[in-house]
Amino acid sequence: MRVEVAKHAGVCYGVERALRLAEEAAALGANVRTLGPLIHNPQAVAELREQGVEVAACLDEADDGTLIIRSHGVDPAIIAQAEQRGLDVVDATCPFVTAAHTCARELAEQGMSVIIVGEEDHPEVEGIQAHAGGTALIVQSAADLPERLPSRKVGVVVQTTQSLQRLQGVVDALLPRVNELRVCNTICSATAKRQLSAEELARTVDVMVVVGGHNSGNTTRLAEICREVNPRTHHVETAEELDPAWFAGAESVGVTAGASTPDKQMAGVVRAIEKLG
Ligand code: SF4
Repeated sequence: MRVEVAKHAGVCYGVERALRLAEEAAALGANVRTLGPLIHNPQAVAELREQGVEVAACLDEADDGTLIIRSHGVDPAIIAQAEQRGLDVVDATCPFVTAAHTCARELAEQGMSVIIVGEEDHPEVEGIQAHAGGTALIVQSAADLPERLPSRKVGVVVQTTQSLQRLQGVVDALLPRVNELRVCNTICSATAKRQLSAEELARTVDVMVVVGGHNSGNTTRLAEICREVNPRTHHVETAEELDPAWFAGAESVGVTAGASTPDKQMAGVVRAIEKLG
């Protein structure tokens, strides 16, 4: 069986950086915690725990030591509170998310009504909202825009993982309705690149395997995209979940992984598939 890995697959720059910062913090001292699971990948979170990095569900669960802010970013008030409590804060917010924070803050400071294109209860969007001053309108698409806009001067910022089409739809709908429109395209290309190369590969192989946390939104979306073009698509977290029956009669297998899947996890699945055939 020929096994091919998608051109763009696996852990992205921001997640890799957050994992590295957490490992460095653990090597330096005790009582290291991440505020929420560092990434949506149970095996990676368990491995971090073995290295001494625990998960604090909220600030009250971290009363001393080091607190790591994950790549999604947070409300700046949380960082200020942590520092007031004497915690050593390691800010692993992805620089692309920080760029969205800066845009949101600047648009609000310029007196624009801020609109965030993104998922309302996603932690990244909560952080962007806080940087916009807490009053931004959050929409998932143009259909969510209200009949009456808060003003005719509007600034748009977008969650890093949204699609360009979605941003474009909101911008097109706003343009005829406002006097001034400023748009920060804060989309990060990591998600789009992974989706495009997964779909391309899934079209050409007999079986497609997508590796990553079952609780990972971006991995689940990759599996959905692959399944649309290749019904023999399977989403696994580890090699143990592979079922040899999936590969019956297959000559080619494609493998991809979500942006929160460490490389060695994907490599382990590739090795296990190679052993099957
Ligand atoms: S997907 Fe993009 S914005 Fe999000 S953590 Fe990865 S590199 Fe950063």
